[in-house]
Amino acid sequence: MTKDDCIFCKIASGEIPSNSVYEDEDFKVILDISPASRGHALILPKLHYDNAYEMDEAFAAKVFPLAVKMSKAMKKALNCDGFNILQNNEEAAGQTVFHFHVHLIPRYAGDDVQIASKPHETTKEEQEEVASLIKKQL
Ligand code: AMP
Ligand code: ZN
Repeated sequence: MTKDDCIFCKIASGEIPSNSVYEDEDFKVILDISPASRGHALILPKLHYDNAYEMDEAFAAKVFPLAVKMSKAMKKALNCDGFNILQNNEEAAGQTVFHFHVHLIPRYAGDDVQIASKPHETTKEEQEEVASLIKKQL
């Protein structure tokens, strides 16, 4: 399924042109229009999923092999020093385009890309409670 008013559906189908670097029957990989670094790319499924929770696990299993294939090629092509593979779900997590996508962000020593988080303290009890809550849902 695709969604009529979704820009990434239109890019993935070719209705809107993009700088595509890879395409197969399930995915298109394009260069990000406002790159965080030189070569920043996005993996777009051709089917519309708002986010990761909407995706069935069989389809999701195709995503990471492609991320690995792309990161190997991009590392060689761009000679970057590191690489972030990341994916945001919902506004609270920084998602701005609500069609599932994976960011492929080449990193260069001393670059100004910001993917930072501050470590917080926790307790053994809290960690046990959190682990138990998650395990109950699986
Ligand atoms: P996110 O914040 O995870 O939803 O990421 C959305 C990404 O899509 C951002 O990095 C944008 O720069 C990028 N983006 C938005 N519109 C386009 C577009 N038309 N073509 C390519 N990248 C886009
Ligand atoms: Zn879409």
